[in-house]
Amino acid sequence: MGRIGLNLQAIMSRIEQAAKNSGRGVILVAVSKTQSVQAIREAHAFGQHRFAENYVQEALEKMAQLSDLPIEWHFIGPLQSNKTRAVAESFAWVQSVDREKIAHRLSEARPATLPPLNVCLQVNISGEATKSGISPSEVEHLARVVAAQPRLRLRGLMTIAEPGLSERETRKQFQALRELFEDLKKKGYAIDTLSMGMTQDMELAIAEGSTMVRIGTAIFGERPHSNDNVQAPQLASPGLAANRRRMS
Ligand SMILES: *Cc1c(COP(=O)(O)O)cnc(C)c1O
Repeated sequence: MGRIGLNLQAIMSRIEQAAKNSGRGVILVAVSKTQSVQAIREAHAFGQHRFAENYVQEALEKMAQLSDLPIEWHFIGPLQSNKTRAVAESFAWVQSVDREKIAHRLSEARPATLPPLNVCLQVNISGEATKSGISPSEVEHLARVVAAQPRLRLRGLMTIAEPGLSERETRKQFQALRELFEDLKKKGYAIDTLSMGMTQDMELAIAEGSTMVRIGTAIFGERPHSNDNVQAPQLASPGLAANRRRMS
């Protein structure tokens, strides 16, 4: 078994361990941003079929090369209005919806031949100034907007915890997202997805109620370029640009 297969096996058992006794299934989404199509193929061969990308152009190129595989694609990056059509046409999920305008445009552009686009609202639970996402006080309004779109299906909430915090502080952030999630459910929203937990904090997120973890590094190894911020803007994708240069 190759490295990616071994990593997937290890992640699956970490998830199982962390979800034990909770009676809850936790879905693994493999974050393949900056990784090669070959790496995605390798993960797929080991039964992984949900993948997430942050950069629209990079994702479309990979999708074209992987169209023979039945992959469920998740978009988890910052979304600009001029990219909503491409996203609505190509992805099964968008986890980073954080504006009304984006919700409207995604719904309008979602092809009638596809099932409704699954949507999570991205919440900036840590309140970091540089981070995308709505504030907790905006959640209910945007949930109402998304739920009213004919071609969108509101599935839940997504967050990225602030890196480098103590275990206790990290847990608090996950608890805060969970409370918002439970609150929406009480208000009658039929949502089922609490997307929280990455390589560094997946056990804590699962302990606090996560139903979906988004894991990159622990599956594929360090990303090709070291200055890769989570949700770095599109231009900051030197890995792919370098690949393209090598290929041409
Ligand atoms: C990159 C990224 C991840 C995965 O991060 P790892 O630390 O590599 O597991 C998860 N979610 C989002 C939104 C990301 O941008």
